[in-house]
Amino acid sequence: MNLKKIYEQTEIVISFEVFPPKDDANGEKLEKLMSELEVLRRYHPSLVSVTYGAGGSTRGKSEEIVCRVKNELKITPMPHFTCVSTSRETIKNYLQAMETAGVENILALRGDLPKDGTICHDFLHASDLIEFIKQESSLSVAAAGYPEGHAEADSLQKDIEYLKLKTDKGADVIYTQLFFENEKYFQFVEKCTHAGISVPIVPGILPVTGYKQLAKMTSLCRVSIPEKFLSALEKHKDDSDYVKKCGIDFAMNQCRELIESGLPGLHFYTLNKSFAVSEIIESVCSSQAI
Ligand code: FAD
Repeated sequence: MNLKKIYEQTEIVISFEVFPPKDDANGEKLEKLMSELEVLRRYHPSLVSVTYGAGGSTRGKSEEIVCRVKNELKITPMPHFTCVSTSRETIKNYLQAMETAGVENILALRGDLPKDGTICHDFLHASDLIEFIKQESSLSVAAAGYPEGHAEADSLQKDIEYLKLKTDKGADVIYTQLFFENEKYFQFVEKCTHAGISVPIVPGILPVTGYKQLAKMTSLCRVSIPEKFLSALEKHKDDSDYVKKCGIDFAMNQCRELIESGLPGLHFYTLNKSFAVSEIIESVCSSQAI
């Protein structure tokens, strides 16, 4: 099913993000990921998105997961694709491969800039990639949005102008960067609407399950953490059970409030594990039609 149809549903659309496991020469981690997804299948996800290493570092594994999600789990897959350091020809081949595999959707990204500064100038921004995908394929396209502004953006307002360009070029849905303050998401949606963006803006939720993981994730993107939440995690950072409970409870409250606001869906950053997301969905969505 394509993105437009998926978000026409009246129920809250549940989707999950996974990534190709690293250091997995014998494929054990990939099998583990598939069994975690098998668990998550019981929540009827409309979509599983699969990340893509900027520059194509995980291409083979990403494609394998996308095909297995589609063929074995019978869930609609959405590969991510990044255009930084990638040639026109490579992108064309990739799009063809995905369409041949029966894929209908793609999350089009620029990707993080390589540290050595070598970039391919064919595609400088995600909006260029989206335009190209729409010309070259019949894929439905999603784009990334940043409730607190992208790390390189001069201002949130400017970032939203570029986000509008992504929808003008053909993005059907926006998935947001993780955030911990719902107010930031609500304000972002309001500003996007004011800027003329009318596609669904789906919040990305990260259930925190480890203190180090939180530090790593938040060092990669611009995201504020409520003081009370952060100090509770810091105080008990060596107690992994406490951190998990605190992180899952926090995400549950966050999701409850988001659902009450009438959002289009919830996109969970699963980090390839099912336990936290399962607990949240069972607690928060049990009374919802999903
Ligand atoms: P763009 O939309 O191109 O924006 C990048 C910067 O350029 C922003 O500051 C923006 O304001 C500015 N900009 C945009 N358009 C223009 C323009 N026309 N002129 C001037 N400035 C402009 N990374 C991966 O490597 N692999 C993944 O699988 C992956 N998945 C992600 C999934 C989600 C939901 C999100 C939110 C992010 C993901 N990322 C992934 C991270 C993403 O690649 C980085 O955040 C990257 O730095 C920006 O990508 P973008 O598509 O948002 O870029």
